[in-house]
Amino acid sequence: MLVVGYIVRMYAAPYLVMNSFYMLAILIQYFAFQNPDIFIDRKTGALNYATATPYLREINQRGSFSAIAIGLNDYTEGNALYGEQQMAKGLRAIVHYLKAAFPDCQVIYAAAGRFLLITTKKYDFSKIHDEIEARMQAPWIDTHAHLYLTASYAMFRGHLHQEEVEQFFDYTAMALQRAEQQHDVVIMEQSLFQQARLKTKVRQAVDRAIENRTVQIYLQPLYGTQERRIIGAEVLARIYDEKLGLIRPDFFITAAERSGTITQIGEQVFEKTCLFLNEHPLQELGLKRLNVNLSPIQCRDIHMAERICRIAQHYHIPLRSFCFEITESALSYEARLQQNIDMLMAQGATISLDDFGTGYSNLMRVLKFPFEDVKLDMTFVRAYFDHTNKLLPAIIDGFQSFGVQITAEGVENKQMADTLTKLGCRILQGFYFAKPLPLDDFLHYLKTTTPKVSSTID
Ligand code: C2E
Ligand code: CA
Ligand code: CA
Repeated sequence: MLVVGYIVRMYAAPYLVMNSFYMLAILIQYFAFQNPDIFIDRKTGALNYATATPYLREINQRGSFSAIAIGLNDYTEGNALYGEQQMAKGLRAIVHYLKAAFPDCQVIYAAAGRFLLITTKKYDFSKIHDEIEARMQAPWIDTHAHLYLTASYAMFRGHLHQEEVEQFFDYTAMALQRAEQQHDVVIMEQSLFQQARLKTKVRQAVDRAIENRTVQIYLQPLYGTQERRIIGAEVLARIYDEKLGLIRPDFFITAAERSGTITQIGEQVFEKTCLFLNEHPLQELGLKRLNVNLSPIQCRDIHMAERICRIAQHYHIPLRSFCFEITESALSYEARLQQNIDMLMAQGATISLDDFGTGYSNLMRVLKFPFEDVKLDMTFVRAYFDHTNKLLPAIIDGFQSFGVQITAEGVENKQMADTLTKLGCRILQGFYFAKPLPLDDFLHYLKTTTPKVSSTID
């Protein structure tokens, strides 16, 4: 009846002179008969997505409600395997079952194989979950096909803030994703909504920073073990937001890679690096080069190197001032990456393989590329010092025998710095030397600090 009330309010506002349910019911029947698409999802027969949010707004206004979200794990595969038409029949069969099994719930189809059961009644979640899960073990039978599907579940009981209602379906999509990853039912708590709100705020802050050109660069010193001094720095992006404070890259790089804005961030970072070098030439700083990160997404673009060269030219900075750090995942775009690397190297830049030792590393593939330097990820370096991985010396020797030099990341104390120097690492980076520093602090650091590392010569 709530749906009826809402629909009528939405589509029949001028007729709402009488507050009579009888009248409303007649009206709704009239509207439904005339145009059922208004609120029913044609594919599944459930309440449609467009109607669902206003409906939720309506019941949320009246107090708490229960929601059970069901997400098909194999929705995409199902479409490919059974065909879209058969899958649509399967979805319809699921809606038919849900409506029959839970008559006091509203069944909503929220796109991409996600369903919601919503009720103002207090439900025993585990019982419902077990019941649906038991049904999911059997195929969804149609005269033409047997569809075998699996599902993930997320549950909510409570009352939402007004703005949360608008986002509720996004939250359930997120919760279902997590449920699928964790192979467990997710209870949607307030903390999940807070996380989602924070994510949205970070995304907006990143978009603002891109548009207002306020992405900042920090520099973290790189120590040369042969020169026994700071010989360069890695450029690291930072975004400062008035409300959120300083946002660390861990929070925005992955999101920016997903949304594609990483290219704009990367180019802004590079432009600001050029501007810095324009004001403080490398020679004056006593440095050999600056390391700039290139995201795999940037490397996918065949025009990437061209644009980088153009920016450097604009600020009169030779490309030999840069070492570009790329991660192994960029190697999957082999041909385009090769083209980009060739162009950057032809102009004098060097290339470094970042984050080596995280996850699966394919040595033969790595060696096909002209890396001057391989950066060992800090987790890999640490594993050697806490005795959980003894591979480090062999890896350093192995790369060096191919003429590739090693940078060790995450060097946090003198003992680490000394040992890594003795093992033959060419460059060290980590908090022992300095954290990533704002530009002025970096300039001050260069003038005032002499790192202490014992070398094999001592
Ligand atoms: P990364 O390239 O591996 O950068 C090194 C990260 O390790 C930096 O984190 C740095 O602060 C941190 N780090 C350095 N030394 C130590 C240490 O001794 N101990 C510990 N615990 N941490 C240390 P940050 O600045 O938060 O950057 C995180 C990641 O974000 C970077 O990892 C990089 O993958 C990405 N990133 C940062 N700036 C950019 C950028 O401009 N473009 C792209 N594509 N990615 C960037
Ligand atoms: Ca890096
Ligand atoms: Ca790294």
